[in-house]
Amino acid sequence: MVRFYSLNCRGLNSPNKRNQLLHDACKSNTDVLFCHETHFCKSAPPKFHNKRFPHNFHAYSSNKSKGVSILISSRTPFVFKDMHADPAVKLATSDVVPVQYTLPVSCGDFEGTLHVNRFGQGNCGKCIRTSNRWCTPLQFLALSGVPDSNTWDAQICVRGEPLNTLLQKKLLSLHDAGCCCDICTDCDSSQQNDDECSVCGDGGDLLCCEECPRAFHSNCHEPSTTAMESFSEPWICTFCKMQQMRKHSEPQQLLSCQYFLLHVLCDPNNELSIIQSKPKELDLLKKRLHEMEGGSGECPWNFISDVILTVIGAYPPQKREKVRGLLEKEFNQLMLS
Ligand SMILES: [Zn+2]
Ligand SMILES: [Zn+2]
Ligand SMILES: [Zn+2]
Repeated sequence: MVRFYSLNCRGLNSPNKRNQLLHDACKSNTDVLFCHETHFCKSAPPKFHNKRFPHNFHAYSSNKSKGVSILISSRTPFVFKDMHADPAVKLATSDVVPVQYTLPVSCGDFEGTLHVNRFGQGNCGKCIRTSNRWCTPLQFLALSGVPDSNTWDAQICVRGEPLNTLLQKKLLSLHDAGCCCDICTDCDSSQQNDDECSVCGDGGDLLCCEECPRAFHSNCHEPSTTAMESFSEPWICTFCKMQQMRKHSEPQQLLSCQYFLLHVLCDPNNELSIIQSKPKELDLLKKRLHEMEGGSGECPWNFISDVILTVIGAYPPQKREKVRGLLEKEFNQLMLS
């Protein structure tokens, strides 16, 4: 079953109105959201997506009182193949801007996700997210082991179709060689990390991990981080701290607890992060964790099993076995390391 939600918005330029709408759409389990009369301006469309709705398409009209947006949820099996304009409504495909969507890309066995809003040229714009870094199309090619960089748009494919076909169809647009937009000029510093918080999926002021591409709001990360701490030294996230500890020694039990809760909250497949829909229970767990950080002496394994029980309890009975399996797998890995 696919749930559609269609709404005449009468203007969505207020951030509060957009947030409220996204919140309502999540709560009502919407899969595809149609918004009419967004009043968005083509030259500067506002941010209108979150972790639940990563795919984002806007159409504009010369008349400012119009505009349509379509948002597609992360759990909808969605492939962007082509775009057609209805001549009857006098809308050219060039008036439709796919602002934010992703494409699964591969080169041989090497895989990544192309984020279209970051795409620039072959050698600028770190637009492909692999499991552990952001890279330009040329860097992606090099990582996959293909030496011929001249044919990157023929070698990198989206479900078997080379990128140059998508460029011809204008589903992707290549920036000019001399382009001086942010994507084409700032290839190193700001493009190494995700644009959204790994926990809540929103943007804004984010702490960027120096080791991996993740980014977090200081209050979303576990442990929460004060501004002072984050500026004093290169900051690395709990995931990377855990990985480093595993290499050298047995991870501290407190770190294991922080890691486990953060792992559940970040869950990229949206199979575990349902805990976020239980704010009271989540607050309680976070509070206990903070007390442990202060030396409350609570047994870490008790804490972790309570996290597991809370997550499982948030699911309807028929789904609980599957979720229990996923959590116990992670728990066993922690016990072994
Ligand atoms: Zn550019
Ligand atoms: Zn966040
Ligand atoms: Zn990291």
